[in-house]
Amino acid sequence: MKTFHGKGISNAIAIGSTFVISKQRSDALRLQIDDAEAELARLDKALALAKEQLQEIRDIALTETDDAHAQIFDVHQMLLSDETFLASIRKLIEKRHWNAEYAITLTADELASQFALMDDEILRERASDVKDVANRLITCLGTSKKEPPKPTSPSIICAEDLTPSETVALDKHVVLAFVTAKGSATSHVAILAKSMGIPAALGVGDAFLGSLQNGMQMIVDGVTGEVFLDPDDETRNRLLQKQKELSKSMERLLLLRGKETKTIDGNQIKILANAGNLSDVEAALANDADGIGLFRSEFLYLESDDYPSEEQQFNAYRQILERMGDKEVILRTLDVGADKRIDYFHLEKEENPALGMRAIRLCLKRPEVFKTQLRALYRASAYGNLSILLPMITSVSEVERTKSICEEVKLSLQKEGIPFNDKTRLGIMIETPAAALISDQLARLTDFFSIGTNDLTQYVLAMDRQSAGLDEFRDVHHDAVLYLIKMAVENAHRAGIPVGICGELATDEVLLKTFLRMGIDELSVSASYVLPLRDVIRKIDLSNA
Ligand code: PEP
Ligand code: MG
Repeated sequence: MKTFHGKGISNAIAIGSTFVISKQRSDALRLQIDDAEAELARLDKALALAKEQLQEIRDIALTETDDAHAQIFDVHQMLLSDETFLASIRKLIEKRHWNAEYAITLTADELASQFALMDDEILRERASDVKDVANRLITCLGTSKKEPPKPTSPSIICAEDLTPSETVALDKHVVLAFVTAKGSATSHVAILAKSMGIPAALGVGDAFLGSLQNGMQMIVDGVTGEVFLDPDDETRNRLLQKQKELSKSMERLLLLRGKETKTIDGNQIKILANAGNLSDVEAALANDADGIGLFRSEFLYLESDDYPSEEQQFNAYRQILERMGDKEVILRTLDVGADKRIDYFHLEKEENPALGMRAIRLCLKRPEVFKTQLRALYRASAYGNLSILLPMITSVSEVERTKSICEEVKLSLQKEGIPFNDKTRLGIMIETPAAALISDQLARLTDFFSIGTNDLTQYVLAMDRQSAGLDEFRDVHHDAVLYLIKMAVENAHRAGIPVGICGELATDEVLLKTFLRMGIDELSVSASYVLPLRDVIRKIDLSNA
């Protein structure tokens, strides 16, 4: 058994087998082939090409670096001539009629895992050489596809890291847990895991990948962030017991549905749910959330291969609003760019995408895309209790420009005789230091604030929210962030508008009393946190503290 430790997400435990998503070798899908002879010929051609490439690289390494470096490529060449290695690949093609890519992957995985388990460090490193050679060979087959392989049966997804589009592409019904070598508690895979209420351990370190292959037994403890690879009986029994206790406490929490979220001394607060798709909306209802406090509309765009049409968006928004009935639904306009990249947007490559063309900036730059979404939103407003939320605001002019586009959209709907709710509220995210600092001016222009602590923390501390390597420096309770939150709350209340928190900090029990004292009106959290938070709040007595 091997144990790894990362950031735990969701109070749940998963037991199952691993499915490894490897970025470098994203093309090893298993396909059944008809003509084994032709596939072997493909393999031979790729082998010749790979050897040729390695010879060239070796020669360059020899002239530009040193002998030791060049020898690495000798090892790679040797592997490409290794009869046992090649015989195993050929056998899988001949006997099982599998495609060469998959045969290479399987053979290399097996060999790499044998190396990875060796005591000698130098031999252990050979595991990455094997993977490297396999990647080269697969690339030389010339069928690299962008689509990574996906699990089809319940699995624990293991990867170096997962981008939002990779994460949304997974069939959520078969994801038991996520484990990533990189990634922090506010990364998008963390948000998704929370929203699905499934456990995750993120940022467990690169060593984790070395000993991994598909189909290994694993336990993920989302409470502690522990990962047990190939668990022994004692650990399995202990975690099974813990899993039972967790589900019992969940049953107790379900009794809080329909109850108020009020402290002992009478402070009432709304708890809404964050959502990104329809199943999150169902989870919000099942957990008795007071509404949807943040619907990240970008998931609609991430899931599609082209810009979703006005009609597609209208139908999706309408469905959400109708499902939520009278309850408020705060739908955020498109927040892509930065780490949420979408191919069909053809965004320019930027040195610092988190500081670049994203969210409201992108929408104002591409008014047609923005107008399509706003038309769909206003049309949907006739079917429920909608509020529109603007992401990444930094200035008064961004809000004013948006408001004039909204007016234009409403006017055209009116002319076309299409119904919409003219009273639809328009709020902004406070997630940049600039927005917090001018929140007095912004409060006069908007109907509500929603504080995005994930980005606010990233920008106030100048620390990439995706980077697990910064965890030792990242103080999520930093006074500078709390100071700006307090400032935004005071300015909102002075202007008579409500303010909520929708970033991950909303689930932070350490700060709960601070937020209640500040007078935060709403917390919006992943659905699975609604009842645990209600439970904690109902036990708080602010007059005592
Ligand atoms: C935030 O930044 O806190 C937030 C809620 O938005 P997102 O996590 O989608 O960037
Ligand atoms: Mg944000």
